[in-house]
Formats: sequence, structure tokens, C-alpha cells
Amino acid sequence: MTDKPVSEGISLTAEDTQISSNGRVGMVSLGCPKNSVDSEKILTQLQLNGYEISNNYSDADVVVVNTCGFIDAAKQESLDAIREAMTENGKVIVTGCMGKGADAELIKEENPGVLAITGAHAYEEVMDAVHEWVPPTQAHNPFIDLVPEEGVKLTPRHYSYLKISEGCNHSCTFCIIPDMRGKLVSRPVGDVLDEAKRLVAAGTKELLVISQDTSAYGVDVKYRTGFWDGMPVKTKLYDLCEQMSKLGVWVRLHYVYPYPSVDDIMPLMAAGKILPYLDIPFQHASPRILKLMKRPAHAENTLERIKKWRQQVPNLVLRSTFVVGFPGETEEDFQLLLDWLDEAELDRVGCFKYSPVEGAKANELPDHVPEEIQQQRWERFMAKAQQISTRKLAQRIGQTMTVLIDEVDEDGAIGRTYADAPNIDGMVYLNDFHDCQPGDLLEVVIEHSDEYDLWGSPLS
Ligand code: SF4
Repeated sequence: MTDKPVSEGISLTAEDTQISSNGRVGMVSLGCPKNSVDSEKILTQLQLNGYEISNNYSDADVVVVNTCGFIDAAKQESLDAIREAMTENGKVIVTGCMGKGADAELIKEENPGVLAITGAHAYEEVMDAVHEWVPPTQAHNPFIDLVPEEGVKLTPRHYSYLKISEGCNHSCTFCIIPDMRGKLVSRPVGDVLDEAKRLVAAGTKELLVISQDTSAYGVDVKYRTGFWDGMPVKTKLYDLCEQMSKLGVWVRLHYVYPYPSVDDIMPLMAAGKILPYLDIPFQHASPRILKLMKRPAHAENTLERIKKWRQQVPNLVLRSTFVVGFPGETEEDFQLLLDWLDEAELDRVGCFKYSPVEGAKANELPDHVPEEIQQQRWERFMAKAQQISTRKLAQRIGQTMTVLIDEVDEDGAIGRTYADAPNIDGMVYLNDFHDCQPGDLLEVVIEHSDEYDLWGSPLS
């Protein structure tokens, strides 16, 4: 193994999102811009999975070669690249246009040691092969990771995570991200929009905007004006959303804090430009606990703000996550949280029992809550959340909703409405309906609901 650089590494467009590395992957990308989009998608997914991208053969645990088979010269270039990667590293996964038929046979013949060969756009197979040869070592951590556990295992074709910034200017006491990642650094707005456009061109139907603090986008660069498609665009969430809305796909915002600036986004939602959906990690409702957590916007009157948003956008769906059993949480604090939930009527909630993260300041707080009380509170919280969700979903019966299909199996099709983000929210089941494929948008009449999911039939 040598320090030779990976021959044609493409520029990275997504930042890594995990604290520790699961391993290092090199990428050689050959061929046309379409192939580059595939490579970017694989790189993005690798980074969401906690892998680092290596620019050297010598420190890559495995090398992915994305081949081009358009003309003979391109094929030869691909074969040379595979041979070089085999010589310099030895652990090689081949994907792309040459990964099928006679070309694949030729690759195997010339390089019997390649670990796996897949065809073009085979993101899932590439990720499976990487997982097989460089198994992830870091467990998923809901307090640190931006993408849900299920989301990092799958490589969706029709929806994509789009990271708009790295780092964070806050100092929540249960979190070590600012120590590890540093202060907020917003990606240039033109780069984010370029990536969004490429993802849409590659088949993405839904862009899931993520960062540690989405509403703070651009604060670090004082909302500097950038350029995209020859037009000035501010590095600001509103402007970014407005431009993304022109791409003709669903745009869903995650990790938005309830700052007053979020009010500006409401008209975009009311006009149907972006999905009327907000993922706001409230974490708690007791002012005392929020202060102990040092949460951003802890002093905001969130109930009042939610009420105003709903007046402007009546179909707004709110999802959030909460932590119960935070150090110092009393029964009174917890009851306040339950009462707040009743009033806020959030559509979707997730709840974690507090657990210490190594190096977090909250570890030093007094009055840690015993495990059995944490468990009881978690169960009480989930029972309350379930009641609210059941009630709200029942109101959907009889409505016609647009459903984005996620998968089709022998029992029928499964999809989501605007109200549900992949892997964390609910589903819509279209039993015995097979005449569609992932990524299709269907109009569906909702016929049945339970605590979390809906059932319906497509309009004929
Ligand atoms: S807002 Fe708080 S929880 Fe989120 S990344 Fe920043 S410090 Fe961590």
C-alpha cells in the first residue's frame, strides 16, 4: 500500500455527520456528469453512515471505483483505474456502467480479487458491499446523529438528505457536537443549490434539509449574498427554501429551532412552495429544564408561536423529539411537559430517556434521575403522545392526500404523505395495490388510521 492519491477523486459535496469514523473509503469516479451524481450520492451516503472519505489509496479501508463504459477509450480508462486500485490498495468495489454483462465478466477475469461488482445507480448494493468489507464500528447515537438509524442503513433513491451547514453555535449541556465540530459553518448557498439540483436530476423526489441548527443557516456569514444560476441568492434559510421550491420536489425541513425568524418561512409553506412540515427538537417544555439544558430559544413562548404558525398554515405538521429523565427533572417538570404536549398537539413525537454522552456538561449536573423513574416517565410520555397521534390521524379519514411511494412488496404499496418524514414518522399503506413504484406520487383516499399509520386506496 502506498500514499499515492486516489486517481480521480471527485470533490465532496456533503460534510460528515458523525463524531467518530466507521472506516475510510476511497472513491474513483470516471465518466459523465451522471456518473458523478451517482458518486456524490454514494459519498453522501457513506458520510451519513459515519465513514470518512480518503484521498489516498494507502489509508482507505476499501476503494469504490465508479466505472464508465460509454466508449472503448472510457472502458479502457475504467479497467486501468480498477487495476491501479487493486495494485495500490487491493480492496476494491466496482460499480457503474461496466458493472453488468460482458464488461463485468471482463473485470472479474482481469481482477479476480475484486470484492463486489454492481451496475449503475446501484447505491444500495455499493453500501451493502462497503458494510460487508468495512463493518461500521460506531453505534447509532440519537443525541448526536442527524439521520435516523434506519435512514443510514438504507440508501434511498427517491429521497435525499441535504446538509446545509456544519457545527453549531450553541452549547446544550447534553451535547458534545460544538466541541467536536466547532462553530456553525454554513455551506455556500450556490453549492447547496447545485447539490440539490444534481440530486433532483438523479431522481430525488424529496429533499430532506438537515444540519445541527437549520434556522441558523447563514448567521456565521452574516447572510452573505451568494450566486446560483447567475442570480444573487442570500445565504439565508428563507432564500434557500425559495430557490429549492423551484426544483419541483418536496422540500422538508429538519432541526429547525423556534426562533422568531422561522415565522418568515410560513408564507412559503402556506403557498405550497415547501412542505408544511417542521421538525423542531423541543427536547422539553419546562423552562427550568430547558435552562439546565441550555437549549436555544429556551425563553421563547413556544405555545404562542405554534398557535400563530397554525393560524397562517392550518395544515402545518409539527414533529419533535424530547428527552425525559434529564438530571434534575422533577415530577412537576415532567407533568408540565405532558400538559404542554396536550396543548401543543404535536403531530409526531419521539422520546429518549436521558443518557450521558461522554464529555457532556450535563453529566456534572446534580440529581440524576433513576433508571426506573426514567422508564416510567418515558412510558407515560409515549402513552400521551399516542393518544394525540391517534386523534389527529383519525381526522385524516376521508381526505385525499398525495402519497410518495417508498416501497412496493407482495402486500401492496407503502408510502408517506407530506406529514411524514422517512424512517421517523408514519406510513400510508395501500393494501393489494402494486401498480406503482418507489418515487411515484399518487392521490390517495384515506380510509383507516391507527396510532401511527394510515391506510387508503389510490384514486382511480
Ligand atoms: S443545538 Fe444543542 S443539541 Fe443541537 S448541535 Fe447545537 S449544542 Fe448540540
